[in-house]
Amino acid sequence: MSHQPAVDPTRDLATLLDQIREIVHEELLPLEADLLAERFDVLYPALEAVRESVRSRGLWAPFLPREHGGLGLALPDFARVSEELGRSPLGHYAFQCHAPEVGNMELLLAHGSAEQKERWLAPLVAGEIQSCFAMTEPEHAGSNPVHLSTTARREGDEYVIDGHKWFATAADGARFAIVMAVTDPDAASPHRRASQIIVPTDTPGFRLVRNIPIMGDTGRGPFSHGEVVFEGCRVPVSHRIGGEGEGFLLAQERLGPGRIHHSMRWIGLAERALDLLCRRATSREIAPGKPLASRQAVQHWIAESRAEIDAARLLVLDAARAVDAHGARGARVQISTIKFFVAGVLQRVTDRAIQVHGGLGVTDDTVLSFIYRHERAARIYDGPDEVHKSVVARKVLQRYGLRH
Ligand SMILES: Cc1cc2nc3c(=O)[nH]c(=O)nc-3n(C[C@H](O)[C@H](O)[C@H](O)COP(=O)(O)OP(=O)(O)OC[C@H]3O[C@@H](n4cnc5c(N)ncnc54)[C@H](O)[C@@H]3O)c2cc1C
Repeated sequence: MSHQPAVDPTRDLATLLDQIREIVHEELLPLEADLLAERFDVLYPALEAVRESVRSRGLWAPFLPREHGGLGLALPDFARVSEELGRSPLGHYAFQCHAPEVGNMELLLAHGSAEQKERWLAPLVAGEIQSCFAMTEPEHAGSNPVHLSTTARREGDEYVIDGHKWFATAADGARFAIVMAVTDPDAASPHRRASQIIVPTDTPGFRLVRNIPIMGDTGRGPFSHGEVVFEGCRVPVSHRIGGEGEGFLLAQERLGPGRIHHSMRWIGLAERALDLLCRRATSREIAPGKPLASRQAVQHWIAESRAEIDAARLLVLDAARAVDAHGARGARVQISTIKFFVAGVLQRVTDRAIQVHGGLGVTDDTVLSFIYRHERAARIYDGPDEVHKSVVARKVLQRYGLRH
């Protein structure tokens, strides 16, 4: 089934999207069998070869400004790229725009000092090193990240960091972690208590406790999620990103575009699932000459999926334009809307596609089971559904006098 974009891209963007579609189709989809069979010794070298070819074609880290080696795309254009890459679970990694690297690069680019840019951003952009972002703690509800126990105590020109984090994506193999730690526990506003600080992972006191086994994840290297501890980690004060107490503000700024990237990636995956659904529905006969697609139930699933994906795309592009125009804080409600809505669309479409495949749908012979397992977390990370729905509902209810 051909994909009908809800908004036509410009000619230049359309050419870029064609180029990316071809690479995803020709070079990445063939690698998925190794991903599904967990043949990592074969997959990783093959992926590195694709990354090299992406780099040599000048398509590397497309979200970055041109002077930093990217394509200088505006957020709505990168959103379209993200959808194309999202058609394969390997797409964003192959193009060096996967989480958490993309967020760490954007953060360092916008708020890093000249020294931080040279030491950490440049090798990150080049894909020479890996990094992680450590905010969530086992002891506190990550949904409300102003509650943190990790502290960064100032001693002269150093911070001494103590704390316990988990779900730090890509901690395994990371050269540095960006850590959210409380620098001023007495600040009047809870939003001004924490700062973001770079901790090289070879700092004495930094320890990767384990890679957390997460459903649908390969659990290694860039695709791992680590539990880490910081025990008396000493780093220079110059490792702080931005001002002291600005950690929460920077996290919000980071997560805005991040949610656009994730949402468009999910739309790519949903398109993939719908494509597989339609192929199966038209090729599988339930009786001679009667394909599954002749049944009304299946037709309804197709129509509902088509409508939901197209609606999701319009919402995300609208949110991307709002972030471009007003910044992440100014587009908070649009961002919350897409975060829960698109994650739900992906899960519903994937579920329908699995149902149409019958028993085959729950095997690893198609990518559907991987998407289903891997993307269950979409309704949790970067804020669970319920938190984002509250943001949207409160905005609606303001007009009716609700103040809390
Ligand atoms: C795959 C994956 C990758 C991740 N990567 C990172 C990373 O790189 N770095 C990092 O720091 N963190 C990361 N996280 C952590 C993630 O951001 C948190 O899991 C998320 O913010 C939720 O926090 P929590 O797990 O503590 O759940 P809790 O805060 O304990 O919430 C549990 C549940 O309670 C409900 N709930 C919470 N608040 C409300 C509310 N206000 N109203 C109604 N219901 C509510 C929701 O249903 C929620 O799912 C990752 C998580 C996953 C699963």
